[in-house]
Amino acid sequence: MTELLLDETIIAGLKDALLRKRGEILEASTGTRPLPASLDVNSRQGDLADQASGNNEVHIALKLKQTDAKILQAIEEALVRMEKGVYGICRDCGDPIAPARLNAIPWTRVCIACKQKQNS
Ligand SMILES: [Zn+2]
Repeated sequence: MTELLLDETIIAGLKDALLRKRGEILEASTGTRPLPASLDVNSRQGDLADQASGNNEVHIALKLKQTDAKILQAIEEALVRMEKGVYGICRDCGDPIAPARLNAIPWTRVCIACKQKQNS
């Protein structure tokens, strides 16, 4: 029995969970869904003075909570590891991470033993 190896079905399920969590964080951080572009129908198309006001859209930055930003980063890393085929391997000791732990925290980087070492 190779119980520590993750099969493709499990990986696919965890990838779903990662993508769903990422969507939740992004949706929560932006608050509302993007509004459809409702452009002012301006009959004075040649008016350059109106165009000058269009340069201030930088303030629409994502306001992520710090923890959410960290999880988001970890999710991206987990997705990359899935592509490389090294998902579920502890970053610190190289041992496989227990599937139960991955189910609970799909974006985790380290096994439970290394996590406990970090916290102590
Ligand atoms: Zn480890």
